[in-house]
Amino acid sequence: MHHFQYRGDHLMCEEVPIERIAEEVGTPFYLYSHATLTHHFQVFDQAFADIPHLVCFAMKANSNVATLKLFADLGSGADVVSGGELYRALRAGIPPSRIVFAGVGKTREEMGFALKSDILMFNVESPQELRLLNDVAGAMGTKARVALRINPDVDPNTHPYIATGLKKSKFGIDISLAMEEYRVAKELQHIEVVGVHQHIGSQITEIAPFVDSLVKVAGLIAELRDHGFAITYLDVGGGLGITYKDENPPVPRVFAEAMIAVIKDLGCTIVLEPGRVIVGNAGVLVTKVLYDKRTPAKHFIVVDAGMNDLIRPSLYGSFHSILPARQETGRETVVVDVVGPVCESGDFLAKDRSMPAPKPGELLVVMSAGAYGYTMSSNYNSRPRPPEIMVKGDRYFTIRERESYEDLIRNERLPEEL
Ligand SMILES: *Cc1c(COP(=O)(O)O)cnc(C)c1O
Repeated sequence: MHHFQYRGDHLMCEEVPIERIAEEVGTPFYLYSHATLTHHFQVFDQAFADIPHLVCFAMKANSNVATLKLFADLGSGADVVSGGELYRALRAGIPPSRIVFAGVGKTREEMGFALKSDILMFNVESPQELRLLNDVAGAMGTKARVALRINPDVDPNTHPYIATGLKKSKFGIDISLAMEEYRVAKELQHIEVVGVHQHIGSQITEIAPFVDSLVKVAGLIAELRDHGFAITYLDVGGGLGITYKDENPPVPRVFAEAMIAVIKDLGCTIVLEPGRVIVGNAGVLVTKVLYDKRTPAKHFIVVDAGMNDLIRPSLYGSFHSILPARQETGRETVVVDVVGPVCESGDFLAKDRSMPAPKPGELLVVMSAGAYGYTMSSNYNSRPRPPEIMVKGDRYFTIRERESYEDLIRNERLPEEL
């Protein structure tokens, strides 16, 4: 369910025609629906209402402070993976007691920042990290609450770049070595073991990998309890997929029922780290057609948004549905590559896509771009990054300005000695 629907011929975001926003802010731009964001968060949160739980939105999917503030107001915490994300989460008003920190490469400085902020817990990914965290906490005269991130070795059946719980993946601690590592953690004076963490991947559209992994982790928790560990938190990660094209992922309620069946008797508070499922279909990228270019071999539609704005098609070969902002009957259907202005052949938003013939000057709306869209954007080819706009009802708000050329060189210096 989302709030990007046609009314008559016009594609709307809630009560606002997308064409109207484009006239006023220019293109390209990211556009989010406040109502969709709210609905998705609440549906997910309520699916777990029967058990003690905490939703920590995985903010790498969409980290604008306005988005985070919305979730904070709905009771969300945050799953952060860097000091920068922690900074954003705190600035958006997310209480530190609802922040968890994952990532294989946390630095001493990031640990210090998170300890000073008194976050809920660190999801520790290696023995080396555990020792450094102990040192940093010791030097600060405090204790770090930790969960160990377990690599359960399950195949999530997703794109290899976003599978994180396979044995050969860089993430987490191999489940066969976990018990040993928990024993080590217990001996460290400035570490307080409070939980177990897992996150097996992203855009997962089946229940089975989640359940398989949870069964393994639940076994580990039972074993830990037998050895006198108080495991208060079970952080099950994120990864629930969405429909980009014809995927049919379980809805949150069905997902929750399957998870709860495995974990209900563990007596842990469940931490959930959904990202994509909350924001993915709550945002779009709006772009303008520049040229209709036909070569002897191909038909290209050149638009003003490129891989620097939305890298998912280039990086993962992802499918994003593309709709005209204004429908028109009687258009011929063409098969085209929708490509951006960036100087790379990998710069495309769609390949061999059958669609009503787009016309130069008109607006195309790249759907399902709310997750890993803006957050993965760059300035490649010295292209200023697009603005982010949020619609609420019949009004819209700029939640990030378009970058200027001046912004592009803001941190560059011309030392006289050079
Ligand atoms: C990326 C990530 C998530 C969110 O994944 P989604 O597929 O967007 O739900 C959750 N937890 C961790 C540790 C992550 O790295």
